[in-house]
Amino acid sequence: MSMIYFSKSTPVTVRGERVAQLNIQLYDTTLRDGVQRAGLSFSVEDKLKIAKRLDELGIHFIEGGWPGANPKDAEFFARARDIKFSQATLVVFGSTRRKDTEAANDPLLRDLLDTGAKVFTLVGKSWDEHVTGVLKTTLDENLRMIADSIRYLKAEGNSVFFDAEHFFDGYKGNAEYALRTVEVAAEAGADCVVLCDTNGGALPGEVAVAIEAASRVGVPLGIHTHNDGELAVANTLVAVQSGITQVQGTINGYG
Ligand SMILES: [Zn+2]
Repeated sequence: MSMIYFSKSTPVTVRGERVAQLNIQLYDTTLRDGVQRAGLSFSVEDKLKIAKRLDELGIHFIEGGWPGANPKDAEFFARARDIKFSQATLVVFGSTRRKDTEAANDPLLRDLLDTGAKVFTLVGKSWDEHVTGVLKTTLDENLRMIADSIRYLKAEGNSVFFDAEHFFDGYKGNAEYALRTVEVAAEAGADCVVLCDTNGGALPGEVAVAIEAASRVGVPLGIHTHNDGELAVANTLVAVQSGITQVQGTINGYG
């Protein structure tokens, strides 16, 4: 997981000359992806304290966890309602609906709305091999799962970010399908599609090419890298240069 945090508006300089002004959304997932690190475990109290510190640091979005999948996270969101953040927004994480069901009947999606949050991040598959091999469903049903779930959570003015899991591996295997998942998420109203290098195996050149292709969909893009190839920071920087608007990371690169 990468850890690059820019301030709200970071000037980019080349040989001392200001060439651009970045407007990047900072999105921290220490409390969800970070805790997947072996040996790391936070109590609800710890998570509340960390969330407050992240707010003080100027992080725009704090991903608090996955209620429904984790009872501790449901408690965290219930208690976090009483916290007044100075500028950060708390984000609830979850996955697209189960296959062959209705979004409205999916108990995990309902748990997300029950938190009372207004911003959600939904993870879904963008690698065709994982759709057929892991989800064991059809490529079309996966597209419907993405679209239905986003539409369901978008109700009543909520914001939804879509985490395109294994996007860069998916792009290498079946570019057309990986891009179709981004397109479907955009059509369903996703406010940002976050391209994830979930295995941490992408090279910076590949990241640039895939982002350029995804940019044609015309939805704001984010980047979520893992550091398995020691390239999380490099890949994130390439993504920023390629025009993405949201950077996801964790404190100390945990996760
Ligand atoms: Zn991740």
